[in-house]
Amino acid sequence: MVFLRIAGIASAGLLVWAAAASRMVDEARLPLSGVVRGAVVTQPYGCTTLALEPYDPLCPARHVHTGIDLSARAGTAVHTATGGIAQVGYDPLGAGLYVVVAVDRHTRVLYCHLLHADVAGGEQVRAGQVIGELGASGLATGPHVHLEVQVDGRAVDPAAWLAAVP
Ligand SMILES: [Zn+2]
Repeated sequence: MVFLRIAGIASAGLLVWAAAASRMVDEARLPLSGVVRGAVVTQPYGCTTLALEPYDPLCPARHVHTGIDLSARAGTAVHTATGGIAQVGYDPLGAGLYVVVAVDRHTRVLYCHLLHADVAGGEQVRAGQVIGELGASGLATGPHVHLEVQVDGRAVDPAAWLAAVP
């Protein structure tokens, strides 16, 4: 019995250590430039005059771009900026093929218009991992990743969020 108790305590300790270690990995955030290396920002986050973008009554031209567009050659690797649980979706009239990474209960990071997804639904990913290839699927005028960060369902500026210390 004594042996079993010690084994129990040791494995509980190991679990705490493993949880702490994975949490440290999960909190790492790549800078914007690390998501698609060599990409050009073709559309920033915020109010826009582009009528294709969602309606926002608070913007002067009544439209808002809810993410940042990173343009590069089709097939370029897309790295997740954070760790988390990945899901893969397809929206032919909008985001196209996309990967969404749930960072925690409040925060999701979306990578849209992919050519190919390199992760499976429910897969645990770590910051920097390649999750897919850049493409132009869905509603896109050219190859790019629409990178979007949602906190409690509301889009925030991905550049500011990635630069903030977790
Ligand atoms: Zn976009």
